[in-house]
Amino acid sequence: SAKKLGKNQYKIYHDHISKEILKKNTIQNALRDALKHNQFELYYQPQYNVKKECFCGLEALIRWNHPKLGWISPGEFIPIAEETSLIRQIGTWVLKTACTQAKKWLDEGYIFETVSVNISPLSLQQSDFIDIVQRTLNETGLPPHHLDIEITETALMHTLELNIKTLQKLVDLGLNVSLDDFGTGYSSLNYLKRLPIKTVKIDRTFLEDMCSNSMEESIIEGIILLSHKMNLTVVAEGVETKEQFDLLAKNHCDVIQGYYFARPSSSEEASKFLNKN
Ligand code: C2E
Ligand code: MG
Ligand code: MG
Ligand code: MG
Repeated sequence: SAKKLGKNQYKIYHDHISKEILKKNTIQNALRDALKHNQFELYYQPQYNVKKECFCGLEALIRWNHPKLGWISPGEFIPIAEETSLIRQIGTWVLKTACTQAKKWLDEGYIFETVSVNISPLSLQQSDFIDIVQRTLNETGLPPHHLDIEITETALMHTLELNIKTLQKLVDLGLNVSLDDFGTGYSSLNYLKRLPIKTVKIDRTFLEDMCSNSMEESIIEGIILLSHKMNLTVVAEGVETKEQFDLLAKNHCDVIQGYYFARPSSSEEASKFLNKN
């Protein structure tokens, strides 16, 4: 009967919710041990500079292989970490690891402009964040212009004035700042011009239909033109096909990142894409 079905559906829904909560608790508990037990690793995805015809940068992306739970994607655990203070410890670890690796590459003679690190707005808002960045650069010996900080667009909006001040301090230290996932949030042009950024990263969702839909291509073309007018470098992320690459290159996109060239991989694998002195 309908009544019985309703009850069943409620049960299924209820079970689903409790499973989600259980999973979240499991991940949260496991996260606490992950740093201690060295379960995180940074992967690197090379970025191709169209004009210079070489791989000029890499994005560091965190990976977590839990001994019992297996691989857990950052898309899943970063938001959970962001609900606790763990995200700050993760941010510090990521910075330290990426800067150490970048310095090592420089010492080995590899040529690149920047290593990009994703930073949660919660890290950005911690009072000693600038100190941590400064200390990390000092300790690792990485020249600041080789470090790029990626901040997602939506996250910046909440405490915009404070965030602009912190980003400016990063720029004053000599770092590059990039706006990640550009186009997915409420990007008002009015606030874009106020951010002390040098780079915008066009989100993958924008590229999905660009080869089959002329309206989508016009949007990409417009974003690139506008960004260049504002003296911003444009990175397209999530580029998977030659068609996408050709269209982006035709529209003067500066840097291209995606499976078309390479998946994120270990530092050793990723370094094979870089030129050497
Ligand atoms: P994001 O910073 O926008 O990174 C791009 C994501 O797209 C990465 O997923 C990357 O592996 C994936 N990707 C790259 N090329 C392609 C492609 O051609 N096709 C497709 N389908 N995907 C591609 P990943 O590594 O799973 O990371 C997801 C998100 O998690 C990142 O998005 C970032 O927001 C966050 N994240 C990753 N690492 C860190 C980290 O160290 N710290 C923080 N706070 N967040 C991180
Ligand atoms: Mg990113
Ligand atoms: Mg992105
Ligand atoms: Mg993203």
